[in-house]
Amino acid sequence: MAEDKIERIKCLIIGSGPAGYTAAIYASRADLKPVMYTGMEPGGQLTTTTEVDNFPGYPEGIDGPTMMVQLQQQAERFGTDVRIGMVTEVDFAKEVGGIHKACIDNSKWVEAETIIISTGATAKYLGLPSEQRLRGGGVSACAVCDGFFYKGQEVAIVGGGDTAAEEATYLANICSKVTMLVRKDEMRASKAMQHRVTSTKNIDLRYNSEVDEVLGDQVVEGLRIVNNETGEKEDISITGLFIAIGHKPNTDIFKGQLDMHDDGYLITKGKSTKTNIPGVFASGDVQDKEYRQAVTAAGTGCMAALDAERYLATVESEEEVSA
Ligand code: NDP
Repeated sequence: MAEDKIERIKCLIIGSGPAGYTAAIYASRADLKPVMYTGMEPGGQLTTTTEVDNFPGYPEGIDGPTMMVQLQQQAERFGTDVRIGMVTEVDFAKEVGGIHKACIDNSKWVEAETIIISTGATAKYLGLPSEQRLRGGGVSACAVCDGFFYKGQEVAIVGGGDTAAEEATYLANICSKVTMLVRKDEMRASKAMQHRVTSTKNIDLRYNSEVDEVLGDQVVEGLRIVNNETGEKEDISITGLFIAIGHKPNTDIFKGQLDMHDDGYLITKGKSTKTNIPGVFASGDVQDKEYRQAVTAAGTGCMAALDAERYLATVESEEEVSA
């Protein structure tokens, strides 16, 4: 494509979860005329959950897909240009005021003065066919989102890290019994978290244990557990299965250009959303492995738009001074 045909925009938002849409609402109200590329899963992780009960302002709760449609409508009301498409490659300028480039669907490049990355993270699943079939029917990757629906019932959780330990104790407060499956003979979670698990009476902690199959046609009815030392199998009766074996941040395309932790989460500076590249900001789960809530993602989306607006104002005033 000839250089003069490349579209130039003030603010490109990559990703369409709560962080991306909140950034879009703020950026469009600040007249940054943002363009959002939604990614492969428009609406992000919340479109895979059923009821969202913990987002402030919805006293009766709201289902995830509806909430995302409403966020899109709110962003569009202020002029956000929402486009279906994947950013497949980026080429960031290193200097302040530089123009960043992003390739859409391996075919078209756009140029942007600022970029807000809100590509999120993807929960890891075990990959069993029975688990995939029952996602949304009792299999969940977020105890804080979905645990409440299993109040007073028996559930199971898979994983031995801090997330699994934290979610197991969270579920133990709500559910009558939590069976926790750890595949090794030890947990990876911190000692303090392990202590919380082992001192909670209604958590049945099982080491060397894995899921062989999730039982049930339409909804989860039970679990076939296999002991990976003895090969012994056992069926237990549960209504909910929580997978807590980690998340993968969606940052592959930024490797080599943006600073990230060993596990791929983007590094932001201090309390801001600034990355190591001037004019490129990160919000939501892509830079947060600890809280991972819709409302915290939305909060950092707001921060990213404010950071982008301030950055552009600084660049423009510097240009005026040097003109
Ligand atoms: P982790 O990667 O720390 O732990 C993943 C756990 O899942 C491990 O026990 C791992 O087992 C297990 N696992 C992985 N794959 C499978 C599988 N296929 N089948 C069964 N088990 C499997 O992820 P977390 O989400 O727990 O934590 C991510 C990061 O966030 C960590 O750094 C953690 O410390 C941090 N965190 C901190 C919190 C806090 O401080 N309050 C709260 C939550 C997270 P194995 O050990 O055998 O590999």
